[in-house]
Amino acid sequence: MFGTGYEMHSRMTKVVVIGSGAREHALVRALRRGGGAREIVAIPGNPGIAREARCVPAQPSLSDAALAESPDLVVVGPEAPLAEGFADRMAQRGVPCFGPLQAAARIESSKAFAKEIMLAAGVPTPRAAIFEEAAAAREHARSEGACVVKLDGLAAGKGVIVADDGAAAAAAVDELWKPGARLLIEERLRGREVSIIALCDGENVVPLPPARDHKRLLDGDRGPNTGGMGAVCPPADATQELIDLTVRTILEPTARELARRGTPFVGALYAGLMLTAQGPQVLEFNCRLGDPEAQAILLRLRSDPLPLFFAAAQRRLAGQKPVWDSRTAVAVVLAAHGYPGAPRAMDEIHGLEALAAEEGDDLWVLHAGTKPVAVASSPSPRSAPAPGRRGRARTVPRPASRSPECRAAPTSPRRRCNWRGAGKDPEGNSTACCSASSRACSSRRWEASFSSTW
Ligand code: AMP
Repeated sequence: MFGTGYEMHSRMTKVVVIGSGAREHALVRALRRGGGAREIVAIPGNPGIAREARCVPAQPSLSDAALAESPDLVVVGPEAPLAEGFADRMAQRGVPCFGPLQAAARIESSKAFAKEIMLAAGVPTPRAAIFEEAAAAREHARSEGACVVKLDGLAAGKGVIVADDGAAAAAAVDELWKPGARLLIEERLRGREVSIIALCDGENVVPLPPARDHKRLLDGDRGPNTGGMGAVCPPADATQELIDLTVRTILEPTARELARRGTPFVGALYAGLMLTAQGPQVLEFNCRLGDPEAQAILLRLRSDPLPLFFAAAQRRLAGQKPVWDSRTAVAVVLAAHGYPGAPRAMDEIHGLEALAAEEGDDLWVLHAGTKPVAVASSPSPRSAPAPGRRGRARTVPRPASRSPECRAAPTSPRRRCNWRGAGKDPEGNSTACCSASSRACSSRRWEASFSSTW
């Protein structure tokens, strides 16, 4: 079913995947099912990944550990190492790396830089003013009324406040301000959001199918925003026309502008878009695959990702054509009780063995922030907060029929997986496991015992 399309090396190819989340687990899974003679190493990986690839600690440093493996290719999952120059160290040693150099990773690590690139490239994006001084920012925010206040720099999803009026905007400035900070105060747009991620080799872009993440913690679009409770790929309203328009007016001009400045972007260029009456506008760029978007996107990939990543890293992406499953994929994040505020660690997770028996091309169970504990004779995973994404435990992506977007997803046999000790929040809602359906999907409650059918 999966053509390898990969004849470059006759010997075993060694691929190192950097990261420890469910996105990296999905990368490992996709690379494994791509076939071909290959060894996959994850640094540092996680207990789920360890079942299917060798995991190596990031010692004495992430880049040292990667170089010690003498890999043929390194695929970087998270943004932090890229912002810190991980890809530069690979380049210095001649190791092909799927992930941008530090200078190009600024498209994510600095929102001010991203705005500058977009303005220079004529990419549609809401207008913004940049402030290095709190009083001026506060005054501007108050006069703007409804707007969005953004902290410049990597903030793990916590650096953006959408304000309804001037007073809230001024308060947002005070909340985000810290000495030496830069703030963007941006025009507030309305519309539906969609993410279009493209593989990029510094010049050519190959778009992946669009995805939409779901951030609200609780079912029925309630509860706080989170790092993402799930994703659907593709959302029903993301047409081929939208993809073509985004490539033409956003992804290609951005790649060209970065290359023109001598900082070509190699890796996954992620455009977070708002769909407006005037067309798609860029709210943010990321310099890597999204999490949990990647879990839904990669489940649908029906060709080998290795030649794609290689071609991007080796600047020869033109003509690459990934093959996609025509069905929609839905990723559901199961989070520990108390997530995202104060996730409770070490609750045991049950039911994974039964799920494992059903895993295959249509169902993946992916780990993040889990820790194996010895129970009787065999180790069973517990949820443990991982650095960065505290308390998110795993993603379960599966494909559904194409349309409407997830209504067809919950039709498969009963899935069982639960957390011992999972409880209710003060309103009596289950918070251990949550729905990942996007707004247009049929609403669905995930019980703490997670015996829902889907
Ligand atoms: P960002 O990290 O810039 O993508 O912002 C996080 C979230 O804030 C986005 O996914 C949007 O929901 C919201 N957001 C960001 N910028 C805007 C904007 N200009 N107008 C409306 N909502 C926005």
